[in-house]
Amino acid sequence: MVVDLRSDTVTKPSPQMLEAMAAADVGDDVYAEDPTVNALESHVAELFGHEAALFTPTGSMANQIALQTLVRPGEEVLCDIDAHIANYELGAAAAFGGISCRTWQAQAGRLVADQVEPLLNLPGFHAVPTKAIAVENTHNRGGGTVQPLDQIAKLRSMAEAHDIALHCDGARIWNAHVATGVSLAEYGRYFDTMAVCLSKGLGAPIGSLVISTVDRIEHARAIRKRLGGGMRQVGLLAAAGRYAIDHHLAGLRADHDRALRIAEQLEPFGICSADQVQTNIVVLRHPEIAKLAAQAGEKGVRISVLGTRWGRLLTHRDIDDAGVDRAVGVLTELLR
Ligand SMILES: *Cc1c(COP(=O)(O)O)cnc(C)c1O
Repeated sequence: MVVDLRSDTVTKPSPQMLEAMAAADVGDDVYAEDPTVNALESHVAELFGHEAALFTPTGSMANQIALQTLVRPGEEVLCDIDAHIANYELGAAAAFGGISCRTWQAQAGRLVADQVEPLLNLPGFHAVPTKAIAVENTHNRGGGTVQPLDQIAKLRSMAEAHDIALHCDGARIWNAHVATGVSLAEYGRYFDTMAVCLSKGLGAPIGSLVISTVDRIEHARAIRKRLGGGMRQVGLLAAAGRYAIDHHLAGLRADHDRALRIAEQLEPFGICSADQVQTNIVVLRHPEIAKLAAQAGEKGVRISVLGTRWGRLLTHRDIDDAGVDRAVGVLTELLR
């Protein structure tokens, strides 16, 4: 048995999830006639205290659609230097939206609102107008960092004062919610648009949503079609997503506990710090991370290499306590 800690996207649907998918009532979602999709969209919008939502195949598409509703070609979005939208979407904002990204430095991805204000470009005839600011919560490259609510609130009032929109890349907002007890609706109230993933820790095979107002979601629906993301009897997948929200959300706590346990056991080898683990991601620092990952892989433990000297591991619902012990056993043996 391989212990795959490369990402929380590697989970497979359980028999119960497959049953929910098989039982789904479906229709053509391009006509907005798939009852299972429509129900999922209303449910998720309501969870985050917003008016409407739109189902998308991926989180990247959800982010890009949201950005395109807020920022026109030739305008910009601000985000931190490690943000997914600036690093891991293959330049989609520029390629498809004509949107430029300008970034600020952040420690472990953590938002400090005062760092952002000096970057704002206000309307004029020289500068690229800042139309949106994106906040990633939890922060992926930062190592599962939870964004402090007071900083989000501060950023909100600052953005509002300048009529700049806030977008949340909430691929793992569920993990932030479970880690802090802050409600999804409380997170939702600071943002004009959100993108949330069902296919990360929640364990659905596919699916994300854009969340916003009715008007913006209508616009989002047109952009989704333009990008080729209009899907037909996709209630099959929405059913998996709904099952994941209803049955897997609370289980994220166990993922967080397991990530911490792994970090505590690896910390003595200087490869990670347990006190930086807030959710399900452990950042690994090692001068020969690629070699370590290859050797661990040969012994059936898979971790991610992200740079020449760093990588990460993630816990998820297909990793149990035995998997944790296996991973720690293999990695400590190699590090010793
Ligand atoms: C995974 C992820 C996404 C979306 O990724 P897809 O693979 O396109 O679904 C977006 N933002 C963050 C922070 C992510 O971790």
